[in-house]
Amino acid sequence: MQMKKIFIDTLGCQMNKLDTERILGILSHFNYEQTNDENQADLYIVNTCAIRQLSVDKAYSRLGNWGRIKKEKKSKNLPLPKIAICGCVAQLEKEDLLKKFPYLDLVIGPRNIPQLPELLEKIETKRLVVTDDFELCENKYETKRKKAVNAWLTIMEGCDNFCSYCVVPYTRGRERSRSVESIKNEAIKILSDGFKEITLLGQNVDSYGKNLDEKTNFAMLLKELDNLENINGNYRIRFTSSYPTDITDEVIDVIKNSTHICECFHIPMQSGNDRILKKMNRRYDFNQYKNIVEKIRKNIPDVSITSDFIAGFPSESEQEFLDTIKAIEVLELDYANTASYSPRPMTKAAKMTDVFIDEEEKSRRLNILNEKVKEASLKSNQKYLSRTMEILIDAVKDGVFQGRTRNNKVVHILNSDKDLSLGQFVEVKIKKASTWCLFGEIEK
Ligand code: SF4
Repeated sequence: MQMKKIFIDTLGCQMNKLDTERILGILSHFNYEQTNDENQADLYIVNTCAIRQLSVDKAYSRLGNWGRIKKEKKSKNLPLPKIAICGCVAQLEKEDLLKKFPYLDLVIGPRNIPQLPELLEKIETKRLVVTDDFELCENKYETKRKKAVNAWLTIMEGCDNFCSYCVVPYTRGRERSRSVESIKNEAIKILSDGFKEITLLGQNVDSYGKNLDEKTNFAMLLKELDNLENINGNYRIRFTSSYPTDITDEVIDVIKNSTHICECFHIPMQSGNDRILKKMNRRYDFNQYKNIVEKIRKNIPDVSITSDFIAGFPSESEQEFLDTIKAIEVLELDYANTASYSPRPMTKAAKMTDVFIDEEEKSRRLNILNEKVKEASLKSNQKYLSRTMEILIDAVKDGVFQGRTRNNKVVHILNSDKDLSLGQFVEVKIKKASTWCLFGEIEK
């Protein structure tokens, strides 16, 4: 039987990338294969992100393109492709999307992905919106991961924090954790398939296990994953993201004493100012965040701590913005993702319209923030000059192999003429540091 072709476009975070791999895994059991030829698809899916309006607009533009292709095929009496939207925009906009895009066949929420095969049958006769709550999927079908060195693995979904700017609790729902057993089995499978590194994904990994009947928590899960049996050779475990005040001493202790868990925390701070943090509904102030950073640094040598910041949150004054700039410096953060504030539907902050900061000012602050992050990243990289570090090779560009240190620094290998391969662990002496990466040589 001839395989059907699916063209899938993924926008947004790693969670979405992993959802795309899940979709491809499920549909490979139903006679679908991926195509990169947009004109040949039988099924189009855009996997969307609602974190910023720019990303939503991109999704609309994809739907527009595919609508045009469908119209053209109709005019030539050719078989018509199906068009679907999934991810956070689907979850938020539901029926409105069918009204906006008359050629759209299916709107499916991220929690409904396991229902895709039956829904594809149903849309043969009618257009559908399916965004109901659905249990966390204990993958019935294997995820179709792209061959690489690092694999993503969801340990929990959703979030109960309701930060005032964030749409995630409305799109991904409340926190749900997978069982330790199923995560362990998937991790073993991933490593047996040749991956060397696993990144554990969760909106708030420190909440892992809270809703499970079994007595477990994130520290216990990390310990299990540090001690996987029957794995050939070395492997690494990473995780993202952490909520500052939910990081426990037990987690720090497990990482400190582990073999495979990487010394790397991504701890979104969002603002360095206490009043803004309160308005964001974050459950900590600057000093609490600082104490956690200090505790981690004291216990885990060479740890890197990265963060996220928003510039121009509603009502943020110049002085309050400068507190964020100061925080990056005082805390010696290694890197941060940045964005200017973008109002998201359903969130509390989106209603603070009377104190919105204008776009020009937000972009000015974002530029200053980005310059500060550059400076911090260079300073952090320079700490490793002349050090010998273990790197896991994960890419090769123009004949130059590159990899990451345990604390997630990208290192380009200057003497790449050696016999190297992807997935190999090598010791590299750092010779040069730039803003975004390091350069080193394999010794001997
Ligand atoms: S903790 Fe993260 S995912 Fe949860 S609501 Fe806050 S910003 Fe969103």
